Amino acid sequence: MTELGTLHAPLKVEFDYTRSLGPTLSAFMTGLKRRQILGGVLSDGTVAVPPPEYDGRTFDPITELRPVADVGVIQSWAWVREPVPGQPLDKPFAFAQIKLDGADRPLLHAVAVESPDQIETGMRVRAVWADEPVGAITDIRWFEPEGSRPATTPGPEGEAVEGIIAPVKLSYDYAASPEESKFFRGLADGKLIGQRCPVCEKVYVPPRGACPVDGVPTTDEVEVADHGTITTICIVNVPSDATRTFGVTPPVPVRVSNTRVGVSAWNPAAFTGNQPTTSPVRFALAWVYRHTVPVGETGAITRLGTIWPAT
Ligand SMILES: [Zn+2]
Repeated sequence: MTELGTLHAPLKVEFDYTRSLGPTLSAFMTGLKRRQILGGVLSDGTVAVPPPEYDGRTFDPITELRPVADVGVIQSWAWVREPVPGQPLDKPFAFAQIKLDGADRPLLHAVAVESPDQIETGMRVRAVWADEPVGAITDIRWFEPEGSRPATTPGPEGEAVEGIIAPVKLSYDYAASPEESKFFRGLADGKLIGQRCPVCEKVYVPPRGACPVDGVPTTDEVEVADHGTITTICIVNVPSDATRTFGVTPPVPVRVSNTRVGVSAWNPAAFTGNQPTTSPVRFALAWVYRHTVPVGETGAITRLGTIWPAT
């Protein structure tokens, strides 16, 4: 702990996982887009929903798909008393194994009823579709008691859905180390504070607490300059919170490093396109405080700013 205490702040890590679907799941998702549910015909002649990409016995690709109804019967269920963010409903509901008419194996999905008294094994349910299906499992919002309406008639065939984007999210409270806390407090004062290794005398910014080469604590504080030399870069091709923060669209070369002082930071402006400059380039750091997060009595964690080439 430092005299002032360490800093902490909420941190949200998220990225969009983009995957191509392959022929079987592409057909399944394309079906959902027109409100049609397709099952895969397995080697034993049974129909599974969603269709697996490969047969579990022969390991052959599943090539035959067969439409099944969007109505079916509950085989088993579990009540969800406290839904968490991202689940199909934001009020208590049931997850159920639902065997759709025409399928032999159940689909796991949500069933919207008001209480566990209103659901039972053997009960018939129907799919509630999204107003504008896009070709995702969430096109089926949930199931509800069947009622008297007939099964849904699929819409016209549309363009094939060949990929999906699955968002991955993690939110937690990030606790900065004592060394990092000093660094962040320095940013709030407009200073770049690093720490020097007593053995190799390298200065690390932000300070790491220990030298990764010599394995000894870095305790000497050093205020480094706001300019340096670009030594390495990489190209970032995937949009992220950081690229959005700086208002740039990938691909952008972003990592700038000065090994002498260990500076690394975003550099959206020093280059354009995919062509990094090959020779060392002087750059000036301009630390722009874009996000200041108050954390009670302990101060603030300030996000790093951006860099421009030195003129
Ligand atoms: Zn060292």
